[in-house]
Amino acid sequence: MPTEKNKFTFAPEVIIFDVDGVLVDVRGSFHRTTLETVRHFTNKRVTPHDLQKWKNQSGYNDDWKLSTVWVKSLGGKHEYDEVKAKFVELYWGTNGDRGNVEREKWLLPRPQLRRLAARAELAIFTGRVRQELNYTLDRCGVHEFFGRIVTAEDVAKPKPDPEGLLAILNGRDPAKAVYVGDNVDDALAAQAAGIPFIGIVSPDIERSRARAALLRKMGAKAILQSVKELELRVAPLTATAKSGSSPLPAT
Ligand SMILES: [Mg+2]
Repeated sequence: MPTEKNKFTFAPEVIIFDVDGVLVDVRGSFHRTTLETVRHFTNKRVTPHDLQKWKNQSGYNDDWKLSTVWVKSLGGKHEYDEVKAKFVELYWGTNGDRGNVEREKWLLPRPQLRRLAARAELAIFTGRVRQELNYTLDRCGVHEFFGRIVTAEDVAKPKPDPEGLLAILNGRDPAKAVYVGDNVDDALAAQAAGIPFIGIVSPDIERSRARAALLRKMGAKAILQSVKELELRVAPLTATAKSGSSPLPAT
C-alpha cells in the first residue's frame, strides 16, 4: 500500500533521469564489473551487499573511483589508472569476448517513454561517460526521446554537485522540473539545484526499505519501486495533452 507521501504527483516541464538503477538495471553490468574488478586485484570475496554499503555513501557514484578506493581499503596497492583499465576491459570485453555490458537491461518501455515525452521534455544527467551512455541508448532504440543530455564528461564537478542539473534547466524554474534518481548523490544534487526529487528503490535490491528511508531523509518527494510507475505520477502539462494518457491516481 502506498503511503500518503507516496501519492505526490508532478506536472513538470522537464523530467531529468539518472540512468543507472533508474532507466537501466546495471546489476549484471556495472555492479558485476565492480565486484569482479575488486576481486581481481585483492582476491577477496566481495559481495553485492558490500557494494550497496559503498553506494549508500555520498561520493561513490563513479565506479572507477569506487573500485580504486575499495581495492585500496582491502590493502591493494593499485592506482586508479590500472584499476580503471581492468574495469573497462571487464565491462566492454576483449578480443571478441563479450563484456558485462551485454548483461544490462533497459527498464522503461518505448510506449511509456513516448507518452512521457508527449507530456514533458525528457533529459538525462548521468555519471556515465558519453560512450557508455550512447551505446545503451542506441542499442535500446531510445535515443530519440531525450533532448538535453549531460554526462560525466560534460561537467567540471560530478554529482552530488548540481552543475549538470543546472545546465539542463538553463535558467528555467527548478520547481518545474523533477529529477528521478536512485542514490544519495542524486538526491543531494537535486536538493542543491532546488529540483524536486523522485527516488527509485527496487524491492529487489538489498535493504531496500533502509534505502528508501535514506532517500526520504534527503528530501525525496516520492519513492517508486520502478521507473515504470512514474507515468502515473506525472500529470499532463496542459489540458490538450493526449486523451489516451493514463488517468492520474487520486491524491
Ligand atoms: Mg543511479
